[in-house]
Amino acid sequence: MIGTKVLLIYTGGTIGMIKDSETRVLKPFDFQQITTEVPELNKFECEIDTFLFEAPLDSSNMNPNVWTRIAEIIEDKYADYDGFVILHGSDTMAFTASALSFMLHGLNKPVILTGSQLPIGTIRTDGKENLITAIEIAAAKKANKPLAPEVAIYFEYNLYRGNRTTKVNSEDFEAFNSFNYPLLAEAGIKIKYNTRNILDVDTESKLSVYKKFDRNVASLKLFPGITKEFVSHFMKTPGLKAMVLETFGSGNATSEDWFLSLLKKAIDKGIVIVNVTQCKGGGVDQSKYESGNSLEAIGVISGGDITFEAAITKLMLLLGGKTSAEKIKTKFLSPFCGEIS
Ligand code: ASP
Repeated sequence: MIGTKVLLIYTGGTIGMIKDSETRVLKPFDFQQITTEVPELNKFECEIDTFLFEAPLDSSNMNPNVWTRIAEIIEDKYADYDGFVILHGSDTMAFTASALSFMLHGLNKPVILTGSQLPIGTIRTDGKENLITAIEIAAAKKANKPLAPEVAIYFEYNLYRGNRTTKVNSEDFEAFNSFNYPLLAEAGIKIKYNTRNILDVDTESKLSVYKKFDRNVASLKLFPGITKEFVSHFMKTPGLKAMVLETFGSGNATSEDWFLSLLKKAIDKGIVIVNVTQCKGGGVDQSKYESGNSLEAIGVISGGDITFEAAITKLMLLLGGKTSAEKIKTKFLSPFCGEIS
């Protein structure tokens, strides 16, 4: 670890918040005080530098501009550091992790996102362990090669592939899960790296950063009883170029004619529709049931076992590349960095 350098990028989130003494509402604190709250940071053999967002964000305010900003910081400092830790609110961490995994093309260093459920200044905070172990993972090497060279989320003793992760609990310390991909590492007395689950990267590759997003995406979450009025109104969203259709079970939707014909009309107009299941685990198989098969027949793309977070961010980035709907389909179906099986 001696000689290793980690850059800690603080974007905001609960981990860096304190309770306002008057209103009792959580608000960002001066992150410069981090070593007062976590003196353990001084004990690391590796060098830790910090980059602070001047206006820390509640992650509900994340958007492609902020993702670009984070990616540009990494791009800028890439040669100077062995690994990066991004402190981020847990609410939209899975979206940011997914977006960064697609943006940082050729990444061969760890980019570990973490945060906490309780502010770092509180006695029972989960933030200390999350922060300390995330730094350890970002700095970890074997035979001079990083052990986790991908965009990952570290939370409550588990290291997850970032673009496979979903926030599942707003109260438990174990706030994340990765239903369709195994853990990259588990932290106990030792940190056990599950090497075969971790991306095999080219150590010589050059980083290039994709920064063009197109936000003209939307999601339509189905429910029994959804009306034609609502769906047709939704389909008329000005500028709409791609959507995630959140379906039932293995990718099934109502087979009523009005529904299929609204979808078909949109696809004929060049709108890309990706089918992602509302189920947390498992994926879409449009060949399994007649209801899913009708979606396949009209040109809906099967999202397989991709998460909603990865699907929507991947679509924004693919649309940003200004390619045809046909090319977007091919690219969507081929994994960029392990987000889809
Ligand atoms: N609202 C916070 C955020 O996402 C929650 C957290 O940090 O966990 O920024």
